[in-house]
Amino acid sequence: MYIAALNVLDSSDEIEVENLTTSATGCLHDYTITTEDMKKLADADVFIINGGDMESFLSDIVKNYPDLYVINASEGISLLSEREETAENTSGLGDTEDEANAHVWLNPLLYQAQIENIKNGILEYLKQEDKDESNLVTLINNNTETYLSKVKSIDIRLDEELQGIKKEGVVIFHDAFAYLADRIGLPVYHTVEIESDTALNASEIADIIKLVQDGKVKLLFTELQYSDTIANRIEEETDAKVYIIDSGVTGDGSKDSYLKAMEHNLSVLKDALK
Ligand SMILES: [Zn+2]
Repeated sequence: MYIAALNVLDSSDEIEVENLTTSATGCLHDYTITTEDMKKLADADVFIINGGDMESFLSDIVKNYPDLYVINASEGISLLSEREETAENTSGLGDTEDEANAHVWLNPLLYQAQIENIKNGILEYLKQEDKDESNLVTLINNNTETYLSKVKSIDIRLDEELQGIKKEGVVIFHDAFAYLADRIGLPVYHTVEIESDTALNASEIADIIKLVQDGKVKLLFTELQYSDTIANRIEEETDAKVYIIDSGVTGDGSKDSYLKAMEHNLSVLKDALK
């Protein structure tokens, strides 16, 4: 959301964009609020959230700042659910929780809708505050168009360059990849919920190894910010292959870092599915 906001508000002197998380946080799931962050929220006029319950604990905190204008970037977007992702699998390993999967941005089509939501939210806020000077509104609209066209072109390349790929079943090690898999039509057989510090139990590892041995799964996708120990162990014990994708949460924070992450993912997917 930070990267999207940087692009939408590029070269605007009036509006300052700050990231509440750092790239060291990894996914927002692994984030805990600090006093420093509380101060940032107290000083802010607008708070852009990903939504989909990603910031569930923050919504309580935000109640302390009734004047903070909250923009939910996922408004109107239908989210994948954790259950839906695994319901089709025949392995019996499906999640029992029925939570929404909030990692919307990994589908570049839906990310474009998030960018629109952010732009519309900012314009609405400016209007409400009587700060919608035409120069600023034009800048924001132009910035948004420029950024959308860049995201669109990487999205089109997903279709063009992944044409005729093998639609192999995959196991993923964090549900962010589910959105990218959904975009390119890859069936996800199992989602391993690795948090930053939890270890998988032996029986879950054994279940995954069985999925691979039964020939249902040939590819494992993990992400940059997580340790690949478990994935490597499964790779060692089976003939599955491990690939590392970039969910865009560990980049350098520059305004092109989402595009760079998707560029990386495209080449990984080409390599994995050729
Ligand atoms: Zn996450």
